[in-house]
Amino acid sequence: MSNISRRSFLKKAAASAGGLALAASAPRAVAASPKGAELATVLDIGRCIGCGACVDACRTINNFKFPRPEKPFPAMSPQDRVKVEDWSEKQNVDSRLTPYNWLFLQTVDVSYKGKDYLIHIPRRCMHCQNPPCANLCPFGAARKLENGITVIHPDICFGGAKCKAVCPWKIPQRQTGVGLYLKMMPRFAGNGVLFKCDRCFDRIDKGKLPACIEICPEQIQHIGPREAMLEKARAIAKDYDGFIYGDTENGGTNTFYVSPVPFEVLDRALKEQAQPGPHLASVKNSMAISENLGKALLLAPLAGALAAGASIAGKLKNSRD
Ligand code: SF4
Ligand code: SF4
Ligand code: SF4
Repeated sequence: MSNISRRSFLKKAAASAGGLALAASAPRAVAASPKGAELATVLDIGRCIGCGACVDACRTINNFKFPRPEKPFPAMSPQDRVKVEDWSEKQNVDSRLTPYNWLFLQTVDVSYKGKDYLIHIPRRCMHCQNPPCANLCPFGAARKLENGITVIHPDICFGGAKCKAVCPWKIPQRQTGVGLYLKMMPRFAGNGVLFKCDRCFDRIDKGKLPACIEICPEQIQHIGPREAMLEKARAIAKDYDGFIYGDTENGGTNTFYVSPVPFEVLDRALKEQAQPGPHLASVKNSMAISENLGKALLLAPLAGALAAGASIAGKLKNSRD
């Protein structure tokens, strides 16, 4: 069975078992996080069945945050300076990251220690502990919240895609024809807004689980304070003599994948089997590079002032609405 037909089959099976009834299936909630503690997630990919319910739930729950571009797009000057990126006519694509698809599944066939595995890997933002996307965004549009979630503010983002350029996994995805650049310098700067998983921060604020975690019929995903999640990841890894990805990558992230197969084997298979990125290679701490550290220090006051200005503007707008 091909990956796609297998996924359709599993999706139907999950749906008929009630697995897609998101609102009705909420016995779990986010474990209380001590003040200041970062939230992290664990994904036990050794048990993921690749049903895709998480992908569908993310698309449904977060649909109201997706871009609604104005067309025709203003021509850039010079014309080819910034490439137009338009996913608005391809919103149904769910086999890679796009501004309309913040989570997708990679699937690889691998052999390890004489055993064959079909591994499904849900991919989305890693929510780095020291995120270069947030540290190096010149406008303060990308920022890390106190609970460890990194978000991109769609009203502040100028679309220059610095966050994508510095992200070790190239996670954020641009949509042209939306955002601040249209009001400021539509022909000369930016060219859209960058979108990515925001860990359903608005649901978390209400004590709810992220949609992808709540829907999972196998409960392979967990969320809670980072230390507790790291312990959980280590316990799962110990159970099947497995491996963890994300605990040290890029200096540490708030996403831990646990797999019975080493991640270098999975990363090689992703390339050999032509799966779209992100990769699963080991990643050095990009914010430890002095050039990035210096830029972050220089940008911090500017980004803070812009973010504060945007927040005040937002409050004024809300008080008028
Ligand atoms: S994975 Fe990329 S987009 Fe996500 S927090 Fe890290 S640097 Fe930012
Ligand atoms: S945490 Fe929320 S935004 Fe992120 S992939 Fe899951 S459902 Fe989508
Ligand atoms: S994480 Fe859960 S919902 Fe998503 S594909 Fe795997 S088993 Fe299905």
